[in-house]
Amino acid sequence: MEEIACDLCGATASQPLYTLHDAASDVPGEFVLRRCTHCGLMYLSPRPTQGAIAAHYPAEYAPYQRAIEDERWRLMRWMRRRRLAGRRRLVERYSGHTRGRLLDVGCATGLFLHEMDRAGWQVAGVEPIASAACYARSRFGLDVFEGTLSSACYAPASFDVVTFWDVLEHTFSPAEELAHAARLLRPGGLLASNVPNWDSVDRRLFGRYWLGLDPPRHLYAFTRETLTALLVQAGFSVLGWMCFMSGFFSFIVSLERWLETVNPRLSKAVYRALSAPGMRLPFEPWFAFSNWLRRGAIISVFARKTHS
Ligand SMILES: [Zn+2]
Repeated sequence: MEEIACDLCGATASQPLYTLHDAASDVPGEFVLRRCTHCGLMYLSPRPTQGAIAAHYPAEYAPYQRAIEDERWRLMRWMRRRRLAGRRRLVERYSGHTRGRLLDVGCATGLFLHEMDRAGWQVAGVEPIASAACYARSRFGLDVFEGTLSSACYAPASFDVVTFWDVLEHTFSPAEELAHAARLLRPGGLLASNVPNWDSVDRRLFGRYWLGLDPPRHLYAFTRETLTALLVQAGFSVLGWMCFMSGFFSFIVSLERWLETVNPRLSKAVYRALSAPGMRLPFEPWFAFSNWLRRGAIISVFARKTHS
């Protein structure tokens, strides 16, 4: 375990918000989510060291999704395909390009890179988890570096777009990651990222059990203000914010974690029932509505590199 100072402003004064435990593994440890008294960035301290964090990632970690083609249900294939194409179109709209060189940091099993590759982009990925990197390479033939962004060797100013999907909250220093991304981008290049949405309905509903905190895999929690400050510090200007990812998974896991403290058997049963194929469909209008209000579980930001 290690204690840290604020990654945005360097201050050590902070206010504790929650004392948290890992709800997804049996690895012991007590982590404190705190808010920097100076700038408002929220971070975990104490937190596991870089050497100890791997123990907190279960083997069947849900974000490591398999290829859409392998999805059993045709409707689910159609929904996942449509959602991924929507993400590609947003990147194309904000970058102003429909072709170019794109780096996906924390590319997991390569689904987004595969979508961009199919649309004609030149793509590269970085992924620290060996099994996910290996899947992306063998299943989709992608160029994926196994490791972290700081250990990869890409030429400065060699990318038009750098993306961090569900990644920044996992990094040990978002400020360093964003500064690194700024160096790799051409002037005017696009940075796209998403993070758990502090302003979401789910965070207000579930509080400490909200999946957006997922301790200790998530080392940071961002508001739009603190993420903007980090982006500006790294040399970006924000172009826009948007909620467009489905909040269903986040909702049912948050619900399960909350129910676990009330009635563990009920919690398992409710989770099993809600995660059955197709169960999400009746709820999708609600998630679409909360996204429209920018109160969805996950918020995305698009930013342009102005200097580095
Ligand atoms: Zn601070």
